Amino acid sequence: MAESDVTSEYRALVAKLNGWRREYYTEDAPSVEDHVYDVAYQRLLAIEAAHPNLVAVDSPTQLVGDVVSPDFSKVPHPVPMLSMGDVFSLEALQAWADRLAASDPAPDGYNVELKIDGLSLSLVYEKGVLVQGSTRGDGSVGEDVTANVRTIPDIPQTLPRPLDLEVRGECYMPKAAFAKLNAAREAAGEPPFANPRNAAAGSLRQLDVAVTRARSLATFMYTVVAPENYGLTTQHEALGFMKDLGFATNPTSVVAKDMSTMADYIQSQTADRDALPYGIDGIVVKVNDLALQAALGNTVKVPRWEIAYKFPPEEAATTVLDIEWTIGRTGVVTPTAVMTPVQLAGTTVARASLHNVDLLRQKDIRIGDTVMLHKAGDIIPEVSTVVMAKRPASSVPAPVPTTCPSCKEPLVHLDDEVALRCINPRCPAQVQEQLTHFASRNAMNIDGLGPKIIQQLLARKLVDDVAGLYRLTAADLADLDKFKEKSVNNLLKAIEASRQNSVERLLFGLGIRHVGGKAAASLAAAFGDLDHLATAAHDDIAAVDGIGPIIADSVVAYFKNPGAKVLIEELREAGVNLAYKGAAPAATDGFWAGKTVVITGSFADFSRPALTARLKQLGAKVTGSVSKRTDLLVAGEAAGSKLTKAQDLGVTVMDAAELAQTLNQA
Ligand code: NAD
Repeated sequence: MAESDVTSEYRALVAKLNGWRREYYTEDAPSVEDHVYDVAYQRLLAIEAAHPNLVAVDSPTQLVGDVVSPDFSKVPHPVPMLSMGDVFSLEALQAWADRLAASDPAPDGYNVELKIDGLSLSLVYEKGVLVQGSTRGDGSVGEDVTANVRTIPDIPQTLPRPLDLEVRGECYMPKAAFAKLNAAREAAGEPPFANPRNAAAGSLRQLDVAVTRARSLATFMYTVVAPENYGLTTQHEALGFMKDLGFATNPTSVVAKDMSTMADYIQSQTADRDALPYGIDGIVVKVNDLALQAALGNTVKVPRWEIAYKFPPEEAATTVLDIEWTIGRTGVVTPTAVMTPVQLAGTTVARASLHNVDLLRQKDIRIGDTVMLHKAGDIIPEVSTVVMAKRPASSVPAPVPTTCPSCKEPLVHLDDEVALRCINPRCPAQVQEQLTHFASRNAMNIDGLGPKIIQQLLARKLVDDVAGLYRLTAADLADLDKFKEKSVNNLLKAIEASRQNSVERLLFGLGIRHVGGKAAASLAAAFGDLDHLATAAHDDIAAVDGIGPIIADSVVAYFKNPGAKVLIEELREAGVNLAYKGAAPAATDGFWAGKTVVITGSFADFSRPALTARLKQLGAKVTGSVSKRTDLLVAGEAAGSKLTKAQDLGVTVMDAAELAQTLNQA
């Protein structure tokens, strides 16, 4: 190839990869699969190896991560947080190990670990107290995510020993939470996350801490910074040290002395990969001896003492038989590819969501196409590409509906969103989904009211919204197909019982955007009943533990809607309980039972109403002012005169860290 051709290929590759990096690291929304990026990156490495004079300062081979978002405070990393070299075959792994074997001294063992598909995280403790959490950022400077990190349940707020310590590891989103989050996003017309890594990054790097809290993030820590300060000599010991301090460490790692043990580990972990509750994208091999790690050091971008063995993407080919359009509870119309069933990563796959019209158009998936399927985040089947060579000559682009497949009203795009929506509130398909959600176990829990019955109720015009369920009579139900007298009685009993539910079930059942089960429970506990919530100010809602501005926006908008007002009145008239009945009877034993407690100051993890409710539930009597009869003052940040008074009276004071610990134990 002529030098000028190489240069232009090189510049084009750098530009393309940097564009993908921006989407991936900064926007948490990649437009190409990781292996597409990896192939282009390998090509870049090959060009740079053959033409070292070309290596540019903006080449992705010289950069870690991407620019730090201006939305967060910056955190310097005195010990850089680097990327990692990768290999794609056992032969390449062997070649890497052979090169290290030539070093002096040669490694006498490797710690072999799972490569967790998340984002790296640094945690800093001072005297055993968590003081900072940060992302990798560009490797030298990360983003301050301390408040977000405090919401992740498996991260200790305090250590059992008063150590000054920095540990690093991976923050990830478990597969189940990833699947649930994407389903909810899709139902709400929001773009799904491409994989758990992007979902974890998008959830941790949140200005609204309540969103992070609701996202079920978890961690595995794998690095102790300055391990010599703690007398650690191997990576294996470092993992044990962190585990003893209460960090989550991955239990699967092994020490391998030779290549065949490494290959066995890789083989067995590859086989077990689908059964893991979290995604992995490879295996990390690390020199076990920490002094040798330090001696081997790093390149500008990667440590020389570790390497990632990346899994090849698991793919399967199949044919698209149809493209179905389904209508969700909020009116979002989603295309789904119906395919010839095929085995993929442990399950039979016959359907894959195509997410939205833009994606359908972008990938140009057509009926009759042969497509390659993979599982996003090891779990959700997705169409990666169309095999163009196999496209039938007669194929035409998939038609996009302009009217709702259910009610035939015109479909629209709201506020430039990619989702296509049916905005007819009486659309039978939407009402069907709303009723199914309303009756579901975590909502009003109306046993016996499944999708088939709901379909019949709607078809016979016996109900047209959730309030209609409470007007049903035995005579209405008697005519339903295959519905015997016993079923009629049971269903009526279940509907009757649901009238008495505590209001958080109703709140969740109403299907208010962003209000899941947990948020509904927090809101119900904080406001006591639906009327107080319906008239609450935005900031008061946002201040509730686990809530935040996004949920608050949505709640305010919902209750402003005249249709919602009518519905609530209908439910009230139907005798549906609109009040919070409390979680569970207060405990009569345990640390808090019977104690008279006063709360002062603010807490990162709780609003005052939520903390009060929690302590009451644990049996405490929560009072407003400190007196001799007070057993305990719980003092958060910026505690004022109550703290001074408690100190004067000799009342025991508990700080936020001790509170977290006792609550965890409770
Ligand atoms: P990487 O993710 O391949 O490897 C380094 C990271 O692995 C570390 O920073 C750490 O966070 C993580 N890790 C997980 N488990 C670990 C363990 N047990 N021990 C140590 N580290 C562990 O490197 P990177 O620089 O973060 O990202 C590069 C990769 O990201 C590429 O190979 C590509 O697959 C993907 N990427 C994709 C796109 C895209 O557009 N699809 C764009 C950029 C990057």
